[in-house]
Amino acid sequence: MVKCQWCGSNTAQETNNTVYWELPDGTKAIEIRETPSIHCPECGMTYQSDELVKEIEDQLFLIDTSKLEKSMTFETLMAVPRLLKRNYFDFSK
Ligand SMILES: [Zn+2]
Repeated sequence: MVKCQWCGSNTAQETNNTVYWELPDGTKAIEIRETPSIHCPECGMTYQSDELVKEIEDQLFLIDTSKLEKSMTFETLMAVPRLLKRNYFDFSK
């Protein structure tokens, strides 16, 4: 049992849920299945924790999203290797 961040009830439960996520560049939305989520029977909300939202957004920012399937599981998404990003603040070259 976890505390619901919406209504404060202590009856929320961890669950897995399908979510739709817009890519950082806004070109498309993907379906992420089996995403760790929290469901609160008290207020009916199903949502992802802030930490998880950040984890997904970081991952989408750091991988090549053009090669992503339209639908995948959370585990598959998080297993996509991250690209080495260019350092935009390196002016020495
Ligand atoms: Zn609630």
